[in-house]
Parts: sequence; C-alpha cells; structure tokens
Amino acid sequence: MTKVKKEMLDRWKADDSAELYGIRRWGAGYFDVSKNGDVVVTPFADKSISVSIKEIINGVLERGMDMPVLLRIENLLDAQIENLHKSFADSIKKFGYQGNYMGVFPIKVNQQQHVIDEMTNFGSKYHHGLEAGSKAELIVAISMLQDEESFIICNGYKDEEFMDLGLYATKIGIQCFFVLEMPGELDLLLKRSSELQISPSIGVRLKLSSKAGGHWSDSGGDRSIFGLNTSQLIQVVDKLREKNMLGCLKLLHYHLGSQIPNIRDIRAALFEASRVYADLVTEGAAMGYLDLGGGLAVDYDGSKANYQNSMNYSIDEYCVDVIEVIMNTLDEKSIRHPVIVTESGRATVAYSSVLLFNVLDQTRFEAQELPNGIPDDSHEFVKNLMETLKYVSPKNIQECFNDALYYRDEVMQKFKHGDLSLRERSLAETIFWNIINAIAREKKKLKNIPAALDGIDSALADIYYCNFSVFQSLPDSWAIGHIFPVLPVHHLNEEPTRNVIIADITCDCDGKINHFTSYGDIKDTLPLHELKDNEEYYIGVFLVGAYQETLGDLHNLMGDTNVVSVSINTKGDYDFVREIEGDSVADVLSYVEYQPKTLLEQFREKAEKGVRSKKITVSERRKILTAFENGLNGYTYFER
Ligand SMILES: *Cc1c(COP(=O)(O)O)cnc(C)c1O
Repeated sequence: MTKVKKEMLDRWKADDSAELYGIRRWGAGYFDVSKNGDVVVTPFADKSISVSIKEIINGVLERGMDMPVLLRIENLLDAQIENLHKSFADSIKKFGYQGNYMGVFPIKVNQQQHVIDEMTNFGSKYHHGLEAGSKAELIVAISMLQDEESFIICNGYKDEEFMDLGLYATKIGIQCFFVLEMPGELDLLLKRSSELQISPSIGVRLKLSSKAGGHWSDSGGDRSIFGLNTSQLIQVVDKLREKNMLGCLKLLHYHLGSQIPNIRDIRAALFEASRVYADLVTEGAAMGYLDLGGGLAVDYDGSKANYQNSMNYSIDEYCVDVIEVIMNTLDEKSIRHPVIVTESGRATVAYSSVLLFNVLDQTRFEAQELPNGIPDDSHEFVKNLMETLKYVSPKNIQECFNDALYYRDEVMQKFKHGDLSLRERSLAETIFWNIINAIAREKKKLKNIPAALDGIDSALADIYYCNFSVFQSLPDSWAIGHIFPVLPVHHLNEEPTRNVIIADITCDCDGKINHFTSYGDIKDTLPLHELKDNEEYYIGVFLVGAYQETLGDLHNLMGDTNVVSVSINTKGDYDFVREIEGDSVADVLSYVEYQPKTLLEQFREKAEKGVRSKKITVSERRKILTAFENGLNGYTYFER
C-alpha cells in the first residue's frame, strides 16, 4: 500500500465519530452524523431526509438569539407517539387481542404549553389523551385536549375542587377517570358525584408487591407511598357494591416507577396486576380498562442492557409482552380483554429536545516544561521526584506512581513545616505532573492497567467551560448522575484529540458533566476537539425532553434558556415554529421577590451620590446606569 493511500484509509471519518459517541446506538434512528461531520436529525422512515443541527444553530443566531438554546424537534415527539401506537396496533393484530390501546401523556413529564399543544394536536389522530396529577394539570388537560375520544386520567390526591372539575368535565363529555390513590378519596368522590348528579368513572391505583430496579422505581413495592393495598381495594369494592355502584369501577391502575430497565420487572408487575384485574371482574366491577402507568424506558447510553440508563427491550418487545401477559392471565378465566392504557412520558418526549451550548474557555492540565536539571542544593525529595521521572516505563508504572505520590506528600509536609520554600514546592509540583503525564502516556502501552491508575485520565483531563447551567437544564445529571448523550454537533469528520470534563458557568463545583457514554461504556471524560481561536465550538446534550425542564432550578440565578421549536418537512427543509426568549436577569430576580424597578432606583441613588462626591461625572453616571439597565434586561447566560 502506498503511504498516501494508507493515510487516506487511516484518516478519521464521520463514521468513526458516530461509533465513538454511540449516536447510532442511542439515537433510535432519529440522529446520525453526515459525511461532512455534522450531527443531523432524520425524523422520517426515509433516512435520506436530514437536517443539520449546526445549520439550525446558524438560523437561531441569525434570528438574534444567543446560546444556550433548547431545541425542540416536533417531528420526534410525533414519531414517538406514532411508534407507540403502531407497535401496540401490530401486537394487538398479531395476537388477536380483543381490546384496543389508549395512550395518555403524563403532563408532569413536560408541562410546557407548546409540548402539550403538539401532543394533543398530533395525538388526536390516535386519541392520545393526558394524565393529570394535580389541579393545575387537570385544568391544562380539560382545556387543551382536542379529541373527544381521548382520555383524561386523574391521579394524585384530589380535593373537592379537583373532583368537581373532573366531574364537570365528565358532564360535558370528556372521558375522565378518577383514580383513587387513597381509600379516603372514595367518600368525597361519592358525595360530590351524588350532589352534582354526575356518574363518575372510577379507577383504583394498586400498590404492587412487585418491585423493579432502576433509579425511579420506588413507586412500586409494598412500601410505595401511593395506591391501595389489597384489603383497601376490597373495602372500596364493598362500599361500591353497597351503594350499587360497582358499574362505576372501571379501571385498574398501577405505576411501577419511571425508566424501568428490565423487561422482566415489567412482566412481573403486569402479571400481578392482571390477576387483580381478573378478580375485580369476578367481584362484579364493570372494569374494561387496565392502566399500566409509565416506566417505558429510554436507552440513554445505547447499551441495550439492564442498566439504570438503558433498557433490555424495545418498544415492540414491550408491546408484545404486555399483550401476551394480559392474554395469558385473562384467557384462563375467560375474561374479556380490557382496553390497555399506558402513561408513557419519558419514552414519548425524551428524544424531542436537545440542549445546545457553546464553549467559552478551557483549562489544560498539561505538565509545564521542566528546567534543564534542578539546582544542586534542591531538597532530597525533589531530587527523588526527578529520579522517578527518569525511570517511568510500562514495567514499573505502578511503582513510579506510588513513589510520585509519596514524595509529593512528603514535599507538602516539609513545606507546611517551613522546611521547604515556595519555589521548591513549585518545582516539585511541576516534576510531579510531568511524572503523571508520562505514566498516562506509558499506560496506553499496557494490556492490563492497574486499577489504581484509573483516575489518571480524568485528573489530566481538560476542562471546557460551557455556556449553560447543569442545575437549570440537566438537573438529573447533577442530582442522580443520570447519563445523557453529549457530543459536538459539528467537526465530526475530524478526530477529537482532547480528553475533557464539561463545566457549566455556575462556578459551583457540582456544576459539571463527568459521566459520558463512549464506545458503549461509561467514562468520566469526553473526547472533544481542540478549540480554535475565533471559532465557536458547539456541543449538544441529547434526549433531554423528559423531566429536565421543570425540575431545573435557578441556581446562581441562571434562568430558563431560549427555546426554539422546529418542524422538519419531507423536503428536508425546516420551519421555525416557535421561538421563546429565555429569562432576562430582571425576570429571575423577580422570581426571588426583587423588584427590578426598586433595584434600579436604589442604584440610581448610589450613582447620584457618586456625582455629588465628584467620583463620577454626570455623563459617566448616565453610562453606568445604562449598563445597569442593559444588565437587567439581558440574558442570564454569557452573551458574546
Ligand atoms: C411519572 C409518572 C408517569 C410517567 O412515567 P414515565 O416513566 O415517564 O413514562 C406515569 N404515571 C404516573 C402515575 C407517574 O407518576
């Protein structure tokens, strides 16, 4: 092979980046890398139709909006709703299931008006309804739902106002189910429905004894806070029978928890629930609806495994298993197949949002160059460090590492006791970092790397300071170490040569991302490209459409980011459907009870004092006040 040919073959390609960042593993076919190195969105079955995210960023900037931006791709929300309904329809047909499938979207997963708008608009086609867990959500649901056949499922504790709203909704023809979370709710519901003369559709939330693995599975199991245990369930049945109202008891609901990674847990819970369902029918309840709650997972790391951030099943397998388990349990007793309801939130909206930001600055932990030789009168420990550096090789890597740590600690002790100067300590540190760098280099030659050396790469990783707040935009990443796919959205046809930890601009030591999926593994650093002068480098955090927006907080008073919604058409063009400006500084200050007007007034007085005491001139005062006002009206993030 000629040298040129070999170089061509060896050259880093967009496909290499696709593999490195796992985009085809977690992207569910919605994201890919184009030949020219951009991340593209491919929302349709025809994967040749694609739109570059970098191009969308250009469009955002042209419209005068700054980073960070939360990008919503409406098509992906539509595609996931369609996916779910088609999967259920296929399984229903394949197995000859007699009931149908009805989906509802739990509003808490993303309450933003235009998400619910798109959900109810596109969802009408499939009679996709809404789940409400509070009065505020019920108000949203009864007002936003467009399709009369869609359901509203009312979960959560319900007071009289909540019940009345649901009952009135029932009266005007909205299909509202009241799911009892506690036995006490029944009396109030019966009282209000008899007073208003409206017959309610009642559901019961079952406390399962099955429990699932994963982060959010505490909703299941005997100790779960919500739902009725079996004796409470029987009490409800008896009370309804006494009132001759068993015809109102129509739905059995349970919720095992969110992001259930293991299909076995899903099957086990459904087996238990189906058994309970069958007996409720035998008891004489009308029934007809079995509601499995949420839990359908998202494969955030693309490993297709039973891990917290992943799942060992596909949506198709989920649907097949659901149909199979229900049929197996109910056919035995010749019980009519119920309408299947699920409340999938995460799986329907996670894909549709991408957080985009630019990199502002970096810190590198490269070893500084060593002086030629060290002074003869250097302390013995400093000399020992120098000797260690000379002998680093793959064979004695662990030994050198131990020595380096030992001598560095000794140097620190000597410094603390005043036996060693600041200059000597600085020299020792420089040598120490040279050793660590040498070890990092040499360890690449080893097959089996000693466990003690695991942390070296992250200790030497660059820090890229990025224009976003983890607390505002990725709260689960901070709070529970949840993994979201992170990667640059351009330059993917170039090899990333830096190892990086991402820090946000809150300057909080927790304001960082240091868990990444890489080649199907979890790493604490992310390979990224060298930053270039005068060129912005854009990073995307993917699959952030579920839960992140509303859980986010105002840490360091970083507010809501700008939001842009796009809709891609089959020609490969896209429209900006909505642009929502993020919070201004004045906005976030008013959330914590400051009055921007008063702040300005107070500062104005201070500036006036400055004029009186001749610290500033009148025209300087004017400039200073303008800067203050611009600050108040500006974006809470870094503006270029
Ligand atoms: C949170 C929640 C859901 C949504 O769960 P996902 O895992 O996001 O699908 C559904 N039902 C209830 C009762 C919930 O509390």
